[in-house]
Amino acid sequence: MRISVIGTGYLGAVHAACMAAVGHEVLGVDTDTEKIRLLAEGRVSFFEPGLPELVGQAVRSRRLRLSSSLAEATAFARVHFICVGTPQRADSLAADVTGVEAVIGELAPLLGSGSLVVGKSTVPVGTARRMAAGLASLARPGICPELAWNPEFIREGYAVDDTLRPDRLVVGVTSAQAEATLRSVYAPILASGVPYIATDLQTAELVKVAANAFLATKISFINAMADVCDAADADILTLTKALGYDERIGIRGMSAGLGFGGGCLPKDLRALLARGAELGVTQSLRFLHEVDAFNTARRAQVVQIATGLAGGSLAGRNVAVLGAAFKPGTDDVRDSPALVVAAELAASGAWVRVSDPHACANAVPMYPELDHTPDVNEACTDADLVLHLTDWPQYGEIDPVALRAIVRRPVLLDARNVLPLARWQAAGWAVRALGTRVAGHVGAAQSEAPPHDVEPACAGRSLAAIGSDAGDDW
Ligand code: NAD
Repeated sequence: MRISVIGTGYLGAVHAACMAAVGHEVLGVDTDTEKIRLLAEGRVSFFEPGLPELVGQAVRSRRLRLSSSLAEATAFARVHFICVGTPQRADSLAADVTGVEAVIGELAPLLGSGSLVVGKSTVPVGTARRMAAGLASLARPGICPELAWNPEFIREGYAVDDTLRPDRLVVGVTSAQAEATLRSVYAPILASGVPYIATDLQTAELVKVAANAFLATKISFINAMADVCDAADADILTLTKALGYDERIGIRGMSAGLGFGGGCLPKDLRALLARGAELGVTQSLRFLHEVDAFNTARRAQVVQIATGLAGGSLAGRNVAVLGAAFKPGTDDVRDSPALVVAAELAASGAWVRVSDPHACANAVPMYPELDHTPDVNEACTDADLVLHLTDWPQYGEIDPVALRAIVRRPVLLDARNVLPLARWQAAGWAVRALGTRVAGHVGAAQSEAPPHDVEPACAGRSLAAIGSDAGDDW
């Protein structure tokens, strides 16, 4: 089948390449001509494991072609996926859907008969119904294009696999014909038994937003429990593992730490709050304000702990930050908790060097006041404090003995609770985690903790070390 994918950012590039990989002929369309140029050369403008290979194959086979013209898209295909951004509005918590509106406005008069427009962007519930009316009114006389909504649940870092082997496919449709078309598009994926839910437009839109609100709530919940563990001398890693065995709770996506960020969870949570207020269900969703506020406060809390570990003041301290991306597996730095913390430390007088294996290029223009390097050793040379803020797996492989030799003070804050802390302690590091019981723990109240005060070879653990699989699964 011929399809077009409009918007070739994180979502659209993955969708276009995967649809080509399952056998469709795809035209990717974007207003960003540089993105289009790169994709047409078989290259990707962002880091996503497995995607460059897939794009390369798709371009070489000519199953994926690129354009910046919607007229070309409508001449090429009858099915059009919309994958443009829906960021938070500058003036409110609401989602800015003007990008989707613009595409529909431009596309409608170009569409031929039998066209199906499929929204994949995350939008507030009710948007699709409104857009369907707009699409009908702007279409040429006698042409009755249909609109469907097909929310996307991919996780950056796993996006290719999530697209080819999704947990479920959800489509919101208003006719049997639209549903049949979407079934054909996804037939190669559905063949492996992927759960498929066909519903109305508004339920489909809401599934996506509700999923992200739930994931955000789960993260804030376990972070609140981490604070209780710290106060009560309990251990969040063991607690998480024990909770996770309860199938009603489940361990995935439940890792205590610095909290969530990125281009989706925070803005989707806020957009739901804004839409809920419009729908008159403010009271029912009030707790989500707390989820959001607690998550944001987590960043200040980590700055406060870091200040304590630095001896009560960050002025003149050298701080190494491990991680810039909002989570591992991506170079996406939108609303990255690591960078927000790093910038706050710098604003408090620290000299901050941020290391990330893939996200430096994106972090530099957003935070020019910080030093950026992909090299961990360079970031840590002469550091008074090392903060682990994005849990890239390679940070778990750092040799704490070798790193100790190049820092000024071997003090570590593992704000993602995944490093093998016992090894770090055995190497003479003073360590602090969030809610993790660590023998010789450097408490937030302690202003200075010389490394020789720390008991080595003790119970520092990570979820992986205790056989858990919580991970940053969002
Ligand atoms: P993005 O900013 O990376 O990509 C959006 C792309 O749309 C950009 O390349 C932009 O140039 C292009 N664009 C904007 N206006 C256009 C127009 N008129 N015509 C053609 N192209 C246009 O955003 P993203 O992260 O891919 O997110 C897109 C949507 O998908 C959002 O609604 C987001 O919430 C949702 N989503 C994203 C993910 C994810 O992992 N990033 C996952 C699920 C859902």
